[in-house]
Amino acid sequence: MSTPAADLLKPDFAAARRHFIFTEEHDRLRESIRAFVERELAPHAEEWEQTTFPDSVFPRMGGLGLLGLSYPEEYGGQGGDYYCNLVLAEEMTHSQCGGLAMGVAVHTDMATPPIHVFGTEEQKRGYLVPSIAGELISCLGITEPDAGSDVAGIRTRAVRDGDDWVINGAKTFITNGHRADYIVLVCKTDPDAGHDGISLFIVDMDLPGVVREQKLQKLGMHASDTTLLAFQDVRVPAEALLGEEGKGFYHIMWELQGERLIGAAGCVASAQRLFEKTLRYATEREAFGRPIGRFQVNRHKFAEMATRIEAARQLVYTTAWRFANDQYPVREISMAKLFAARAACDVADECLQIHGGAGYMREYGIERAWRDLRLNRIGAGTDEIMLEVIGRSYGL
Ligand SMILES: Cc1cc2nc3c(=O)[nH]c(=O)nc-3n(C[C@H](O)[C@H](O)[C@H](O)COP(=O)(O)OP(=O)(O)OC[C@H]3O[C@@H](n4cnc5c(N)ncnc54)[C@H](O)[C@@H]3O)c2cc1C
Repeated sequence: MSTPAADLLKPDFAAARRHFIFTEEHDRLRESIRAFVERELAPHAEEWEQTTFPDSVFPRMGGLGLLGLSYPEEYGGQGGDYYCNLVLAEEMTHSQCGGLAMGVAVHTDMATPPIHVFGTEEQKRGYLVPSIAGELISCLGITEPDAGSDVAGIRTRAVRDGDDWVINGAKTFITNGHRADYIVLVCKTDPDAGHDGISLFIVDMDLPGVVREQKLQKLGMHASDTTLLAFQDVRVPAEALLGEEGKGFYHIMWELQGERLIGAAGCVASAQRLFEKTLRYATEREAFGRPIGRFQVNRHKFAEMATRIEAARQLVYTTAWRFANDQYPVREISMAKLFAARAACDVADECLQIHGGAGYMREYGIERAWRDLRLNRIGAGTDEIMLEVIGRSYGL
């Protein structure tokens, strides 16, 4: 059937476009998560800035099936695909509470995936199942006071003692560290073996010798708890080893790919939310007799922001498609994380500027997003580390 030329040539600015990775089912999931987030989480955003979000969010989200969207049904998951996790990460940004979104993402997309992929059946039953139900809260311990970017430089030691392992060391900046029931812990098991001398452990946080030091004060993400942890002669059984002994570095590098991609998706969604909020403001707020959005300088700012957000979105979705189809696109994930985090920080800054003094005020929520988003250029691997991964992937 032919389409009249006039229709063909009409720009479709208002058309709702679904990206090819998503289906109608994802749309429905998105709608239901959005409704939950706006009804039950967003109203508390300001309060949780002061108090951190309550642990009860986990059983509530577990009850709704949101903590195991892509995990198999036999473990209590929803059996969905990887894109469901993207939908969750994107919709959690509508809580307007970066610390909450991060605390949940650490649980769903950082600490539990290694248990699902590398864990024994017993570990899956003991930790993954209750985590999906929201009955156990998890955290992930990679970073140490003396080693962050340089993961192989960690010093936390696990030493074999009969049937047990004895762990000594410290981890810092640990999200959920105060509330967690267990930690997926990266330890040195053979200091002379370099990358092959690292192993993962699942450690219960109520074991003797696990010390939760003070909650750390930070620039943003105030709704999350960030903790310094000490491990003093913590004795765990042999069954606490997660994955293969000596392969922990490779296991955690795999984990970081998912973490970076989910983080990138959150950045794009946050930037989009701020863009739309600021667009509304720019059409309502007037100066010199016209809406501020009608000044060419601001129009161009919106054009620049929209272009960067769209580019970041395409990079994230295309890379997610490869990741979900059993490829291991480390270079593209690094690019997506780098590009989306930078874009989100720049968009937040520009949106704050377009809001003028109002942007600096708490009630508009822009300054909070500006502070929260800054973490994305540091956490899960800094911009500089992403550039290193990308650069080295070309043999340099
Ligand atoms: C709020 C928050 C929450 C976090 N949550 C967690 C968590 O739950 N679990 C966890 O394990 N970690 C967590 N982190 C830690 C985070 O992943 C690290 O901060 C990050 O990886 C950087 O490590 P670092 O802070 O030690 O910086 P460093 O490694 O000391 O880096 C300092 C600077 O040097 C640069 N640099 C380092 N190496 C190179 C290089 N080779 N080339 C060029 N530049 C380089 C870095 O880019 C950076 O600019 C969190 C951090 C924050 C702030």
